[in-house]
Amino acid sequence: MVNDPEPRWLLCDFHIHTDKSDGKMGLDEIIDLYGNNNFDVISITDHVYDRHTVKLWEDNGERPCTIKKEQFEEYMHDIWTAAKKAWKEYRMLVIPGVEITNNHDLFHLLALDIKEYIDPNDSVLNIIDEIHAQSGIAVACHPHRKDSEEEMPFMHLWDNHEKYAAAFDAWEVANRDDLFNVVGLKKFNYLAGSDFHEERHVYSWKSLIRSEKNTEAVKEAISLNENVSLYLLRNRKASETIS
Ligand code: ZN
Ligand code: ZN
Repeated sequence: MVNDPEPRWLLCDFHIHTDKSDGKMGLDEIIDLYGNNNFDVISITDHVYDRHTVKLWEDNGERPCTIKKEQFEEYMHDIWTAAKKAWKEYRMLVIPGVEITNNHDLFHLLALDIKEYIDPNDSVLNIIDEIHAQSGIAVACHPHRKDSEEEMPFMHLWDNHEKYAAAFDAWEVANRDDLFNVVGLKKFNYLAGSDFHEERHVYSWKSLIRSEKNTEAVKEAISLNENVSLYLLRNRKASETIS
């Protein structure tokens, strides 16, 4: 009997926004961009914002950059349609998700491979329980992001990291061009994602996952966190022009 070869390392991005929330590119364009950059696995994670933030936008007459509860079914349908194209054309696996974005209580988290809408106004632990009840994966987003020398805007998860440490499947140790050394120092399960909003963001920190290319295997690899690595994707064409 011949043993199966070790699965290879898969190039993955688990944090991508489309123009269904506040991204600049449509779903199909994003599939082509990632497919042409030889990605193996991507997750679409548009924002699901808290009610306070949505109300502020609506009071100001602005379009709320959020997937509302009544839009969720259509959102998932569109992602599954795009996922079929991605597999057919590029052999790229697409995992549907959202970024639960609560700017009122100052936390952002990824819910990967969920099936139903999740209320972003609930507590972090209840949200994570709901993600797991749907067989999804919960990832703490940019837990130590600094927008300026003074400002660290979404600090709820890190301020309470002891409380949440075991509940999350992984924490973003890298987000776009930023590295959060504290996640490494705590030896938390980690993941990287580009927080993609526009084309140039494809060139940023990514995750490599060694697993079979299917959703269950990738989720298991994230939560076991043994065969995960970081990879900085650079734009070679652009960097070659820098002398
Ligand atoms: Zn975020
Ligand atoms: Zn994001």
